[in-house]
Amino acid sequence: MTAKFPQPGELDAIETASRDEISALQLQRLKWSLKHAYDNVPFHKAAFDAKGVHPDDLKTLADLAKFPFMTKIALRDHYPFGLFAVPKEKVARLHASSGTTGKSIVVGYTLQDIDNWANLVARSIRAAGGRAGDMLHNAYGYGMFTGGLGAHYGAERLGCTVVPMSGGQTEKQVQQIVDFQPQIIMVTPSYSLVIAEEFERQGITPDQISLKIGIFGAEPWGEGMRAEIERKLGIDAIDIYGLTEVMGPGVACECIESKDGPVIWEDHFYPEIINPETGEVVADGEDGELVFTSLTKEAFPVIRYRTRDLTRLLPPTSRAFRRMGKITGRSDDMLIIRGVNVFPTQIEEQILRDKRLSGNYQIQLSRDGHLDNVEVRCELQREAAAQLSPADVGVLAKELQHHIKTIIGITTKVSVLAPEAIPRTLTGKARRVIDERPKQL
Ligand code: ADP
Repeated sequence: MTAKFPQPGELDAIETASRDEISALQLQRLKWSLKHAYDNVPFHKAAFDAKGVHPDDLKTLADLAKFPFMTKIALRDHYPFGLFAVPKEKVARLHASSGTTGKSIVVGYTLQDIDNWANLVARSIRAAGGRAGDMLHNAYGYGMFTGGLGAHYGAERLGCTVVPMSGGQTEKQVQQIVDFQPQIIMVTPSYSLVIAEEFERQGITPDQISLKIGIFGAEPWGEGMRAEIERKLGIDAIDIYGLTEVMGPGVACECIESKDGPVIWEDHFYPEIINPETGEVVADGEDGELVFTSLTKEAFPVIRYRTRDLTRLLPPTSRAFRRMGKITGRSDDMLIIRGVNVFPTQIEEQILRDKRLSGNYQIQLSRDGHLDNVEVRCELQREAAAQLSPADVGVLAKELQHHIKTIIGITTKVSVLAPEAIPRTLTGKARRVIDERPKQL
């Protein structure tokens, strides 16, 4: 049953191994992965050759820095199966990215890849406090998106009872949670708030909700959002990270005992942080772009894949592996507003400083002549809406505008709307930014 601390013998041996043991395993696997990619994928062979490197040149982990990067462009150029490293008959399953930032990309898995993935998601759920015998409500979308099936197989592997609910049908989600009494929910953070609001609407208070743990990922969410979700659902909210290109959910996951950033499952994925402009590897602790090399993937190996996710590597705490800081945003989510670089999560942080506002918000950008106009639309919590006068709401909006100006440095128009006024995405990821500015030529 759900637990905050792992019992002796519960973890995989490598989760508590020494750094030397981890590095030795990584080096051995990295050699295999580079050779596997080079021998079986013409794209990788051509990229290595163009850089004048060969898999045999990797003698130490640091040598990886000599190898070429891979970007999303390679996946698009070789759509659909051009980067697969095994014959078609060995590909047991396909998935595709939800295409948040453009055309969808396709990835494949062998049975062994799916087995590893299930083990890593099982490890992630266990890190979040889940145990065999728990019931897990899975509200990640099923289908080509990796969230649904990725979570499903991992939960089964751990020995949980899975409710394969998928996204959408919010009332039914709540009904099933009330009827089945699961301990764990897996869902995007933005949709968890939609579910929380439905509980609220039905007059069900957090202490009446059976859920103890929520495992949230697939989109950026800050500490303010964590506090909001924990309060509204009466749970521990845990961050799980992953991406289709590298595997899907379960590349990294937080531990419930420390909640200090997702632990990267370094026995399967080798992380680097680079300076996104120069491509240089930066030291642990420094901010930059997260890059992954797969160590065990058969069907779809990735070598120095640039995720565009911005974060930093942190020292181990609850497990022997390094952690990543919470993702502040993707490089392609960054807004440039009147020359100031802004991530939506920075605005989210300011909104959630005020307990009277909910975590649902949208940022609308438009252009007036040469000037960018920014409207931040946020919503009142239900109780606040009942208590505040229009004048109070005006003061609240002014305060938020002031915080955004002084802390982020941009002038915005703040609109405080009624509860649930901002359209909900019923499946998957929230749409935080509506950019109506004409495209720069
Ligand atoms: P798409 O690229 O179409 O959005 P994915 O489902 O593969 O499809 O999305 C992966 C991306 O989602 C990651 O690269 C990252 O930007 C974001 N993401 C996933 N998990 C988290 C998380 N826990 N925190 C922040 N961002 C996340």
